Amino acid sequence: MKKGHNLSKSEVVEQIPLACSDELAAVEFLEAQRWGNTPACVHCGSVDVYKMTDAKTGERSRRYLWRCRDCKQQFTVRIGTVYEESRIELRHWCYAFWRACTSKKGVSAQATLPDQLQKCAIPDEPDSVCDGTRRL
Ligand SMILES: [Zn+2]
Repeated sequence: MKKGHNLSKSEVVEQIPLACSDELAAVEFLEAQRWGNTPACVHCGSVDVYKMTDAKTGERSRRYLWRCRDCKQQFTVRIGTVYEESRIELRHWCYAFWRACTSKKGVSAQATLPDQLQKCAIPDEPDSVCDGTRRL
């Protein structure tokens, strides 16, 4: 975790550094950003979906897959977003995201984010993203 930043802005600022440090935390953070409490199939829109787990460990699948009970297809939070084609770990996106939330000038933060990511994760402006994550 980086030191010397002002973390007082909102709760999300405390959560994102965690998401930056751990890929699972990053995935779950982005899932919450995208879906809130209602994950939906990216293929058919059904909300009858579940997290796939590793048969041996019972932990979440390493690819963070979801499966839809309606169309039987698998998906991840990456699909349909800039993350889908990116080979960068999601936790690195979270770091960019965090910078957007902590930046005093939202403009400079937006300049560091690809357009597609802004569309996906930042519907209005960085401040609204921070507000939207408080429900976590
Ligand atoms: Zn489906």
